[in-house]
Amino acid sequence: MEDSYRHKGLRKQLVNSIRQKGITDEKVLKAIESIPRHLFIDSSFLEFAYQDKPFPIGSGQTISQPYTVAFQTELLELGKGMRVLEIGTGSGYQASVLAEMGARVFSIERQRKLFTRTRELLSKMNYQVKTFLGDGYEGLPAFAPFDRILITAAAPEIPQALIDQLKPGGVLVIPYGKDDVQQMLRLRKNTDGTMSTEQHGAFRFVPLLGELGND
Ligand code: SAH
Repeated sequence: MEDSYRHKGLRKQLVNSIRQKGITDEKVLKAIESIPRHLFIDSSFLEFAYQDKPFPIGSGQTISQPYTVAFQTELLELGKGMRVLEIGTGSGYQASVLAEMGARVFSIERQRKLFTRTRELLSKMNYQVKTFLGDGYEGLPAFAPFDRILITAAAPEIPQALIDQLKPGGVLVIPYGKDDVQQMLRLRKNTDGTMSTEQHGAFRFVPLLGELGND
């Protein structure tokens, strides 16, 4: 599990390019600078690890583009020690960014192959992430409530179970839409239980799979 000077140099360049695209949260940028993204993708594609692009990780899924990871993480307004639920563990890269920033991360993946591979990788790398095999639409009622919920696949609906599992004052970030382009939404749960919604631009994610998704 090598992390060379060359990798570190490439990461610095990646962070500069993400900064230029508008990410300002220094804690997010620092996490991206310190996490060896090349270990989350197939080693024969090393040169792609530090380009600001999504990349296939098998099972028809992709590791999100670093800018998108940074953007979603910035929208979360993370604080140390927060309980964060991620839907769509995938490669585990996003989960490790959250963990690196001091969050207590719970992450659900629906595909067994990815779940097994990523669980092993995260534990080898010593990231404190609890991984679960299951349907993200259901959330994790046994571990709720959460301060933050992050959905990393396109959602045609905003799952009510996830809203129920969010603390008052909590934030949920979700790429929302049925088409191949989604709107990034940030929902905030008010203390009276109602939700406020903000739109944060257009993104492209692979779809959530499951009963409500386009399987
Ligand atoms: N966060 C990931 C990228 C996610 S890609 C990373 O950092 O690499 C979206 C992931 O969501 C895929 O791994 C896909 O298998 C998973 N997924 C799709 N539908 C799901 C569902 N209903 N519940 C949980 N995970 C789901």
